[in-house]
Amino acid sequence: MADIIDGKAFAANLRIAIALQVADIRVIYGVTPGLAVVLVGDDPASQVYTRNKTRQARETGMASFEHRLPANASRQQLLELINRLNKDAQVNGILVQLPLPKQIDVEAVIDAIHPAKDVDGFKPVNMGHLLIGGEGMVPCTPQGCLMLLKSRFGDLSGQHALVIGRSNIVGKPMAALLLRENCTVTVAHSHTRDLPEECARADILIAAVGQPRFIQGEWIKPGATVIDVGINRIDAGDGKTRLVGDVDFEAAVKVAGAITPVPGGVGPMTIVCLLLNTLTAACQQHSIPAPSLGGAFPKAP
Ligand code: NAD
Repeated sequence: MADIIDGKAFAANLRIAIALQVADIRVIYGVTPGLAVVLVGDDPASQVYTRNKTRQARETGMASFEHRLPANASRQQLLELINRLNKDAQVNGILVQLPLPKQIDVEAVIDAIHPAKDVDGFKPVNMGHLLIGGEGMVPCTPQGCLMLLKSRFGDLSGQHALVIGRSNIVGKPMAALLLRENCTVTVAHSHTRDLPEECARADILIAAVGQPRFIQGEWIKPGATVIDVGINRIDAGDGKTRLVGDVDFEAAVKVAGAITPVPGGVGPMTIVCLLLNTLTAACQQHSIPAPSLGGAFPKAP
């Protein structure tokens, strides 16, 4: 049976380390990192995500500012809000919860966020830094996946990594990060010819497809490390729903060497990496030395 990679415990430890750094910079420099979270509309899942983000920011001692706009808000209204947040010295990071209502195009919104406050790491300039090896904000979900992998492997050099999915927020930045870590990286997507064959070669398999239990246990290379990014809500059969990943966990756990569960794997890492990016952004904006949390990362599992 595979080791279960406990992202929830890892994230909890990292939150403690972040809280200690936040307290330090407040005492030494008089700076309180601030995160602005913007929610447009009333999508129930988005409401839960934004609530968790603002709550966890407060729990680590940061200032958090929640801004809500109605579902029929115009693009101009949102851009004006972002403009105000860009100029607000108390706000070091801006997160606009996705997806946005149809009348607002995501590119224009991402474009409006100041690069130094882009704690999601979605701006082309930050994606560019990621690709060419520069310093920039790294998107939270892939950053969290990489932390879990490094806590297990240490050095990832030479590992054959397969990233399934090529979205701008998960698949592409994940592949760029693994390449930086000297992995041999394959990116699979909806046009990939023989996915089981690609899976059979992968020492590290990252699934970010958005289809419940899509990756079959028998596709997985025995002993591989599986990181399941997927969050899919399915009918639990008793009138309730439950969350499952993109990997058929029950089958995969018998083959893999280690695997992240859903929930409790990648999800908690995404939020804690947002806090880490906010802390980093605050330090950069106040010319404070960057946070050093390396020693605080627990081993997983
Ligand atoms: P997306 O819909 O933008 O991208 C899905 C990708 O899957 C596409 O690139 C597509 O080419 C690929 N794909 C589709 N069908 C395929 C097939 N048959 N074979 C191979 N590839 C195929 O999704 P996303 O935003 O990258 O999210 C992926 C999943 O991760 C979703 O379940 C989402 O909810 C979840 N997610 C989780 C977190 C987290 O914090 N855990 C964060 C972001 C996204």
